[in-house]
Amino acid sequence: MSSQQHAFSVPATLIVGDGIGPEIVDATVGVLKALGAGIDWEYCDAGLAAVKLYGDPLPRSTLESIRRTRLALKGPLITPVGGGYRSINVTLRKEFQLFANIRPARSFLPDGLFKDVDVILIRENTEGLYVGVEHYIPIGDDPRAVAEASGIITRFGCRRVAEFACQYALKTGRKKITIVHKANILKALTGLFLETCQEVGRQYQDRLTIEERIIDNCAMQLIINPAQFDVILTTNMFGDILSDECAGLVGGLGMAPGANIGADTAIFEAVHGSAPDISGKGIANPTALMLAAALMLDHIGQYHNAERLRDAIKQTLQEGNVRTPDLGGNASTIQYAEAVIRRLG
Ligand code: ATP
Repeated sequence: MSSQQHAFSVPATLIVGDGIGPEIVDATVGVLKALGAGIDWEYCDAGLAAVKLYGDPLPRSTLESIRRTRLALKGPLITPVGGGYRSINVTLRKEFQLFANIRPARSFLPDGLFKDVDVILIRENTEGLYVGVEHYIPIGDDPRAVAEASGIITRFGCRRVAEFACQYALKTGRKKITIVHKANILKALTGLFLETCQEVGRQYQDRLTIEERIIDNCAMQLIINPAQFDVILTTNMFGDILSDECAGLVGGLGMAPGANIGADTAIFEAVHGSAPDISGKGIANPTALMLAAALMLDHIGQYHNAERLRDAIKQTLQEGNVRTPDLGGNASTIQYAEAVIRRLG
């Protein structure tokens, strides 16, 4: 056993996922093995692969595995647009009450748009417009003449995620939280979010600066001066959109990891989808999933391994000659993963 290897293995569920899932999961599992992280994977199916095998995009065996391990790493899962089954990602967040979605964006690329981005976006993950309360209203012979959707936000949900964000900020040495909302227009829906987060924030004002921004202004400020942001705390839909914007600031979706955290379960994933346009070509960028794996290592207390992994990714990208095509290189997913493994300190 190497000095870095862990004496006890940690059971975790592994969902390979759709599209580029198998390629980026393979690369990430290989890197974790080289790190000696000691993860004992339970391979499970979900998404299109599970529909083909079991006629169910989220089979019971997969749910049972997550219930057992309380820890999962997940490749991207296809959500059919319009009809078809409901988003499995959303279902998993609801099932395990994964109320906080952490999406860090950090400048790893020396030649990227911005060199000084280091923002952690924390998104409420279970409420808002994602609750799926929507329907059509027929008029005359048009059964879908009007579409209506409701967003639901609770004081309990806001308090829970705000408390989490403050604690997370303190634990990770952050100084400032920006609450992002649209309380000037959606006065009840995001007004309650703003009011409750500010209420929670006041209990931390001796240790954290708490400020607020309207979503549209925040979207613009992120482009003008992203370094002013430290932690962003926002609602489900705004968080979804802003986190893709943050990913864009640091090199695109291939660079953006995500963690879904609940009271007793956590699921780690890349922010991006299944990228059907490049699936099977062996050129997907596995960095986002590797960085998600680093968040998972932090979560299970393997801080040293998490830092080793982030450092190896940073070195690989800074040296610049081994990059996947989305970052302007011509390396394959496997070549990139091998380059990261060679730099593990
Ligand atoms: P889905 O419906 O599953 O979300 P999508 O194609 O709408 O799929 P993404 O999968 O997030 O959305 O992809 C958006 C774009 O970003 C695509 O052009 C895709 O090729 C690119 N992309 C996403 N992830 C990666 C990655 N890891 N490496 C390289 N390119 C990526």
